[in-house]
Amino acid sequence: MTSDTPSLYSQLPATDRLLRDAAFQPALERYGHRQVVDMLRALQDEARQAIREQQALPGWCVDWAKETISRLGSRAQSALRPVYNLSGTVLHTNLGRALQAQEAVDAVAQAMRSPVTLEYDLDGAGRGHRDRALADLLCQLTGAEDACIVNNNAAAVLLMLAATAAGQEVVVSRGELVEIGGAFRIPDVMRQAGCRLVEVGTTNRTHLKDYHQAVGEDTALLMKVHTSNYHIEGFTKAVEESELASLGEALGMPVIADLGSGSLIDLSQYGLPKEPVVSDLIQAGVSLVSFSGDKLTGGPQAGIIVGKKALIERLQAHPLKRALRADKMTLAALEATLRLYLQPETLAQKLPTLRLLTRSAGAIEEQALRLLPALQTRYAAEFTVQVMPCLSQIGSGSLPVDRLPGAALTFTPVDGRGSRLNALAERWRRLQKPVIGRIYDGRLWLDLRCLEDEAGLMEMLLQ
Ligand SMILES: *Cc1c(COP(=O)(O)O)cnc(C)c1O
Repeated sequence: MTSDTPSLYSQLPATDRLLRDAAFQPALERYGHRQVVDMLRALQDEARQAIREQQALPGWCVDWAKETISRLGSRAQSALRPVYNLSGTVLHTNLGRALQAQEAVDAVAQAMRSPVTLEYDLDGAGRGHRDRALADLLCQLTGAEDACIVNNNAAAVLLMLAATAAGQEVVVSRGELVEIGGAFRIPDVMRQAGCRLVEVGTTNRTHLKDYHQAVGEDTALLMKVHTSNYHIEGFTKAVEESELASLGEALGMPVIADLGSGSLIDLSQYGLPKEPVVSDLIQAGVSLVSFSGDKLTGGPQAGIIVGKKALIERLQAHPLKRALRADKMTLAALEATLRLYLQPETLAQKLPTLRLLTRSAGAIEEQALRLLPALQTRYAAEFTVQVMPCLSQIGSGSLPVDRLPGAALTFTPVDGRGSRLNALAERWRRLQKPVIGRIYDGRLWLDLRCLEDEAGLMEMLLQ
């Protein structure tokens, strides 16, 4: 039997009539005439297409006002929605890396609301450029002579190379030609900066003499790249930054280091895996060191370069610096974050990244056990809910082989059907504040290391 297509078309309400309908008043008040009319046109097109292709009206046609509000509502949701990061990765690049300290949040809000002395000195002392205040702080924290801030560490590497070695050769170990996520590859950055890459050594072993032999007329720099996101084991040899710095000094040639994550403090004092400390490299004589603001530093996205005054001046004067410079909000957040480091005894409490990384397995397990009974009751029909030990990752390409022991709530389908895990993960992604877990080993894991708002999470999961 065929449907009566012309009569279906006649059931499509006219825009004018819908707009006069009292049911449309809330939509008009919230989203305005223009957005409502545009949405109605789109819905009418969709309905006509359904009639053409399926000889039927879409189900939502029973309530045009409801559909209009619902679609405008989901479209109005911010692209940057807050979520619960229970993925087990603390510095999750796709979830925005470091959470900012309250002090940083307040500093940004102030810089947004009011004019600030970004490049304006009140005492007539001639502060020069916008990085000045931060540079002084960074010198204090790292022992460097000067500093420069750009948008991210990729920009920092590009600027260091372009400003100090364009048209010349840069010597790098074959074992350090890294690719970081998001198309950052050392050979490509080198090319973009106008430098010629000279690879030395082999993938697993590079010696100081390899660098020495590669230096020639056209060599501008020796470079070290921290292999943040991978680890070569076995018969390996890499040259320490300090050895390379001594060679550089003997040759009268700058040595630069891309530390990637880097850390301003020795993390092993908190029982965390050791990462290179920026001040150690400066002390060893490395000329320029770059690292990210939003990895282990725990601040906003930024590229931080510290080192010798004469070289930093070249970076500050290079045209690329103008294109890569950080804005006032980033600088405000970074300054407030760095100030927390001046008070080491409260750092692990005030800096969210460090606070989360240093949570003990015992404390996380206790939290999991506290939440367990209510979740078992709520999910009993479909899942076995348990507390299990797990290993969290620091993330952002740092310390890939080092894991932090913690605890997770795991959800295992009672009927053993794997498809239930995807369905549950999908359901949680659609919550008002989505909950992001991880499917692994036949279970959905909620690693609680990054859970601070317990009540909020339970409100989501128990509905
Ligand atoms: C993360 C990383 C980068 C890129 O830093 P962004 O701040 O993400 O731009 C560059 N080099 C290394 C070694 C890294 O680990």
